[in-house]
Amino acid sequence: MKPIVELQDIYMNYHSKDGEVCAVGGVSLPVSAGEFVSIVGPSGCGKSTILSLIAGLISPVSGSVSVDGRVGYMFQRDQLFPWRTILNNVLFGLEIQKNKNADTVAYAHHMLEKYGLGDFRNHRPRELSGGMRQRAALIRTLATRPKILLLDEPFSALDYQTRLAVSDDIGGIIAAEGITTILVTHDISEAIALSDRVVVLTKRPATVRNIHKIQFDGDYQSPTARRKLPQFPEYFNKIWKEMKDDG
Ligand code: ADP
Ligand code: MG
Repeated sequence: MKPIVELQDIYMNYHSKDGEVCAVGGVSLPVSAGEFVSIVGPSGCGKSTILSLIAGLISPVSGSVSVDGRVGYMFQRDQLFPWRTILNNVLFGLEIQKNKNADTVAYAHHMLEKYGLGDFRNHRPRELSGGMRQRAALIRTLATRPKILLLDEPFSALDYQTRLAVSDDIGGIIAAEGITTILVTHDISEAIALSDRVVVLTKRPATVRNIHKIQFDGDYQSPTARRKLPQFPEYFNKIWKEMKDDG
């Protein structure tokens, strides 16, 4: 089956006052429909650049990016507008796509209801917990019905306990919706807990150092449940060592 996202030998440079910076140095990566892939690597290695390339926000110097379907992008901060209600925040994505109509608004209501925010639709973001705001931000992205979800360090602004709960929450929603997801994180545990595959990048310019297929026995296990399984530290140690050797 043809991958839903395919990067082929991507190179990307930035021009800065100190000259040209090579951020991505030949990355190839196919992603299948329904897969959850995490990209880990040291800070500044080019992870966000790769997501921006997939989102079509920037173009590579060479190589090809093929993406079969609409992309939804969620950033580190929840970026909800404080003056808008949760519902109006969720509708914002549809507004900028000029796609707000009876059908899409009904779907937004359905998603808020389905994921426990129906009673909060007329609240402002500050009245919700950090975890609920993150869920609202995800629903805003899902309300536009993307085929591919791009997450750039979506949990890193949260404290550790909240981050665990929010990974379970967001991981469960993504699994329930079956949406192809590419997550960028510098947190190895988070990547293993959520993913089907973990791509380890080298330091800048990013190249693929290794790709780990993550398999746990049985049916879907929440990220928290995965963290308690015996295979978890084995994956962790392997990936941690690869990243450490690169430092
Ligand atoms: P990561 O997300 O892995 O932390 P980035 O993809 O954001 O890394 O950045 C990779 C490298 O490219 C970094 O060294 C960063 O400073 C540089 N960079 C990123 N964006 C720009 C830009 N707009 N202009 C110049 N350099 C940039
Ligand atoms: Mg980044």
